[in-house]
Amino acid sequence: MKPGVSAEHERAADLDLMAATLAEPYRIKVVERLQMRSRGERERLLSDAGNSVFYLESSDVFIDLGTDSGTAAMSDEQWAALMRGDEAYVRSRSFGSFERSVRDVTGYPHVIPTHQGRGAENILMELLVSPSQLVLSNAHFDTTRAHIERRQGKPIDLVGDALWDFDERAPFKGNFDLAKLAVALERYHQHVAFVSITITNNLACSSPVSMENIRGVKALADARGIPVYFDASRMSENAYFIKTRERGYENATIPQIVREMLSYGEGCWMSAKKDALVNIGGFIALQDEAMARRCQEKLVLYEGFPSYGGLARRDLEAVAVGLKEGMDEQYLAHRARLLAHFGERLEAVAGIKVSKPVGGSGVFVQLESVYPHLTPAELPGVALAADMYREGGVRVGAIPFHLRTVSLPDGEITERLFQFARFALPRRVYTKSHLEYVVSVMARVKQLASRNKGYRVVSEPEVLGHFFARFEPL
Ligand SMILES: *Cc1c(COP(=O)(O)O)cnc(C)c1O
Repeated sequence: MKPGVSAEHERAADLDLMAATLAEPYRIKVVERLQMRSRGERERLLSDAGNSVFYLESSDVFIDLGTDSGTAAMSDEQWAALMRGDEAYVRSRSFGSFERSVRDVTGYPHVIPTHQGRGAENILMELLVSPSQLVLSNAHFDTTRAHIERRQGKPIDLVGDALWDFDERAPFKGNFDLAKLAVALERYHQHVAFVSITITNNLACSSPVSMENIRGVKALADARGIPVYFDASRMSENAYFIKTRERGYENATIPQIVREMLSYGEGCWMSAKKDALVNIGGFIALQDEAMARRCQEKLVLYEGFPSYGGLARRDLEAVAVGLKEGMDEQYLAHRARLLAHFGERLEAVAGIKVSKPVGGSGVFVQLESVYPHLTPAELPGVALAADMYREGGVRVGAIPFHLRTVSLPDGEITERLFQFARFALPRRVYTKSHLEYVVSVMARVKQLASRNKGYRVVSEPEVLGHFFARFEPL
């Protein structure tokens, strides 16, 4: 091998081959047996579950794409770190590892552990939101929305309209519509609690937000003296999309991009169950010491002492390691390519439409492309989830997205309901062949789709109802 240029060239050729074949940049050390129930059993189980796949036992599901949250496979390094957990109540060594890792990654000096993302949201919304105040976001995740509403606040979603066109390959469909943000700030600035940037924009097809957009949001918020916080649950995947889609970031590293994004905020919260590759955990990280103290006071009431926040100390060790592993570029590249490939196969083989370009958490399926004969009121998302289980033992999510936004040019608040199915991909869990199986099941479902007459709700609780509703076929 010649030194210099040719070594770099060879390295690039190796990476290209890995990319082209979708070879996983890890190997499997422990396996878990999967069960496939018979067709007859699946029919019965689904009917017993009130036709909601959220009530199915995991052991009755063959491939589970219901969520990518807390479902990652941990690495050998994470399991080793768990064993090193120091379970002392006060000043545990494990909190030190966790705090160093979060500070290093986010650049924020104050770190508050929570048991998961919504634990952080509960504390932050209590401190930041007063009744009737607005929170402006590109789009709030459903737990974030619920916590703001519990405070009698109003979550407003200002994502751009490109989101609704699944074929429009805009690279950053998760962006704020800056014109809407400007109008909302102009009209309501006295009532705005804070601006929240969700990276990636999970409900908005898990689409990324560009650095340019983040800077634009920061400038508009600064002009009104309104603080900016990040929902950073998926910040590493967002950074990867910036690196590969935004001019000027080709040569930046993922840690550099994450630091730059977060530098435009007062702080962030994170569900570590996503990009930090753990099964449980979360945190708040902040610039301001006084705000951190106020969070800690709430933390002791709701979650636990400031040095563990509702987690076993070993869990803090697993987050400390996973946060870094989740920023590894080869891992991120593999995940993004596998998802893009999955989306292409679903369109080419099963003949349905997915949101393009495919985002970070999974593939979002346009329901009209599967059930053109069903109206939104006939719950095509519930139909798809039921059919995927009945035909192949696959669990997928059907998520209604209640968007409350402002219209241009006057800034009137309007509401809209968006329904889709999400085929979420747990991290480091399923292979390309598993996804090929799902593509085949989807093709079968699409062929039989005209037989499905839709569903209606039998019962639905008020808070986060879509998780707990039961349905019957029409
Ligand atoms: C998952 C998620 C949350 C909530 O976190 P939990 O750990 O599930 O409580 C908040 N925001 C975003 C963007 C998420 O993806």
